[in-house]
Amino acid sequence: MPVHHLHKAQLSRQIKSEAEKLGFFACGISRAGALPQDARRVEQWLEKGMQGEMHYLTRNREKRYDATRLVEKARSVISVLISYYPQKELSEKSYYKIAKYAYGRDYHFVIKQKLSRLLQQIEQATGKRNARIFTDSAPVLDRAAARRAGLGFIGKNTTLISRRAGSFFFIGHIIIDLELAYDDEITENFCGNCTKCIDACPTGALSAFELDARRCISYLTIEYRGEKIPETFKGKWKQWIFGCDICQDVCPWNRKALPATEPAFQPSEALKNMTRRDWENLDKPTFKKLFKNTPLERTGWKGLQRNIRFLQDD
Ligand code: SF4
Repeated sequence: MPVHHLHKAQLSRQIKSEAEKLGFFACGISRAGALPQDARRVEQWLEKGMQGEMHYLTRNREKRYDATRLVEKARSVISVLISYYPQKELSEKSYYKIAKYAYGRDYHFVIKQKLSRLLQQIEQATGKRNARIFTDSAPVLDRAAARRAGLGFIGKNTTLISRRAGSFFFIGHIIIDLELAYDDEITENFCGNCTKCIDACPTGALSAFELDARRCISYLTIEYRGEKIPETFKGKWKQWIFGCDICQDVCPWNRKALPATEPAFQPSEALKNMTRRDWENLDKPTFKKLFKNTPLERTGWKGLQRNIRFLQDD
């Protein structure tokens, strides 16, 4: 069904207000199309081999640089942000640290469900659409599309930073064959002279706007599949055993981080009560019971053991 000019602005406003009701603190809309600048940056990064063993980043690249290649006749990308910033970090008795995004349940499922509901509401107004939902499945597009939709700028730590809410949030999108009203892209960077993230990274993984995944604690504790974490990093990182938040924790924009309102992103009682000894003695059945349907499943029990051992031998 054709959507008229006036209708477009109205519908876009409605989509944003529904997104807010679903728990997204921000929603922006951009025109679907090629992202040549972002594509170039990623291609250069891949050429340097900075993706490490994340071979999936080299597959289907052309598709990730252009929403119209992911969804036939795509016209718009609706981008949403949802906070995962916890009220409190894990207590001292946990000793080991996990990245804050992993405190709650698997976000893919939670966000997909919310975006399906948003899509249903759109289709109620416009009729059936050609559309697809994405969260974290097209990493290039994620930040680039959200930036294009006016939701934030890319910081020197390579995360998307919202001037309203820092960077502790997940990004999701609906790519859709519907013409909508578009927000202004953010092309400026608001880091200024700050280099806090670069200075704070204990493994030297960051240079301005570029992350060498091969040195990144987050990559090495989650995506890296080697039997042992390379010895060169011995003594270099605090107690991170799954992911790392250092470059975001030090970022001044995160003084504005919005506390998560989504119940699924709150830590379970079991996680809140973990002690150093519990982590070190965690057996496989207990791991499976405690961390089923959480991001920790990605590294698995064996990976977590490897990460704990690496710090124990320090
Ligand atoms: S810590 Fe400073 S340089 Fe790094 S992303 Fe934040 S504002 Fe930018």
